[in-house]
Amino acid sequence: MSDTIAAISTGAQVSAIGIARLSGPDTMQIIDKVFFPSNGKAMSSSPCRKLMFGELRDRNGEILDICMCTISRGPNSYTGEDTAELQCHGSPTVLRTALEELFYFGARQAGPGEFTKRAFLNGRMDLTASEAVIDLIDAETAEAARNAAGQLSGVMGVKIDAVYSRLADISSHYHAVLDYPDEDIEDFTLASYEETLEAAEAQLKALLSTFNRGKNLNSGIPTAIAGSPNVGKSSLLNALLGYDRAIVTDIPGTTRDTIEEKVKLGRVTLRLIDTAGIHETKDTVEKLGVERSLDAVKKAELLIAVVDGSRELKAEDMEIIRYAEKAENAILVISKSDLSQTAVLPETGLKTIQVSSLTGEGLDRLETAVNELFPVTNIPAGEILTNARQADAVKRALESMNAALEAMRSGSTPDIVLTETEGAMNALGELTGRIVREDITNRIFSRFCVGK
Ligand code: GDP
Repeated sequence: MSDTIAAISTGAQVSAIGIARLSGPDTMQIIDKVFFPSNGKAMSSSPCRKLMFGELRDRNGEILDICMCTISRGPNSYTGEDTAELQCHGSPTVLRTALEELFYFGARQAGPGEFTKRAFLNGRMDLTASEAVIDLIDAETAEAARNAAGQLSGVMGVKIDAVYSRLADISSHYHAVLDYPDEDIEDFTLASYEETLEAAEAQLKALLSTFNRGKNLNSGIPTAIAGSPNVGKSSLLNALLGYDRAIVTDIPGTTRDTIEEKVKLGRVTLRLIDTAGIHETKDTVEKLGVERSLDAVKKAELLIAVVDGSRELKAEDMEIIRYAEKAENAILVISKSDLSQTAVLPETGLKTIQVSSLTGEGLDRLETAVNELFPVTNIPAGEILTNARQADAVKRALESMNAALEAMRSGSTPDIVLTETEGAMNALGELTGRIVREDITNRIFSRFCVGK
């Protein structure tokens, strides 16, 4: 990381303020060429993190903007390197010109996420916190943002590190006894660590169980809208979205494929999958669609079953109601409530809501019902696993922990238990981005007396 990177950090549109950023060894030298504080001193001599007012000039001394600038010196900066931030007027032209000047004086264009990557490589944040930066920016719900902010503050890293640390204790003790038999180190017995291993396993299990909630936090709860043809599924999807995305038609079977859209209902984000009508069909293209719908219904975490309230229910409608009754989370929508209601509903324990996609009647009750089904979690912010990489690492760590405990209980030798324990450490190390071996080595020597 011997070069200096620069980028515009704010959006490409006109705004009140626009920020250009600089990070790397030549930062101070470059910023002194383009920014001139009104106190007449060099920008690089200003106190860290203090906003300085002054002139942004190009290579010929022409004024580009009257604006603010701040510097931070490594290692106490976001990236861990010397950094500068220009807070200009939010004109894309000014920012682009400013960036060109930074390039002219030696910086290069930063790649995607490169500032945060440097922050990680310089040990300013672990991998979970780095990933949280993106999650926080992309968060679509307040709950997702809260969790990302928690992870950004290191909550997840601390949690994982606590488990890692327990395992590292076991591993370092084992290696210390093995590698330094002449030293006066307490004997290693597996039994003394059984509780530690069990606790680590329990913590990983609890962590992994948050992933189900976590993956839906950002991408939305997979929701299938299902029902027989023409009951108003596409119309409901459109009404929820507030715009026409699906093809609405009164010809049965027109929605031949599944359509996915995200919609925010109160606090909850749903990933809506409009399905082709579920019914027997001979049309092969349509059949494919129907198969896909059933698949979508199976994968969905929420099923919105729709029946047409303006006509008598058919066998297919009864089938979807029965299907919904078996689903973990389901809501029954009686559609077309603006028309006279002739449908006779069977006894059902399902939460039932009358909706008119035409007038919007009942959509608010649907929103309430969805929010009741998925209440805000009481898991503390930052402790929900939200991405597949993290979940995969925890899963592998858990598998290794299970294997370690199994080996221990079946009376295997310590080395087998330790191999599995270290497998778990590797997976956790991957999760937070720490280097496993070096860490164990450090721990081994920390058990020795000073001077040895
Ligand atoms: P799908 O096949 O289940 O997706 O049904 P559509 O959404 O394509 O709707 C089928 C027909 O019912 C269309 O003619 C819609 O205009 C009509 N429809 C859907 N919802 C309503 C509603 O709430 N009120 C009325 N009056 N008609 C509706």
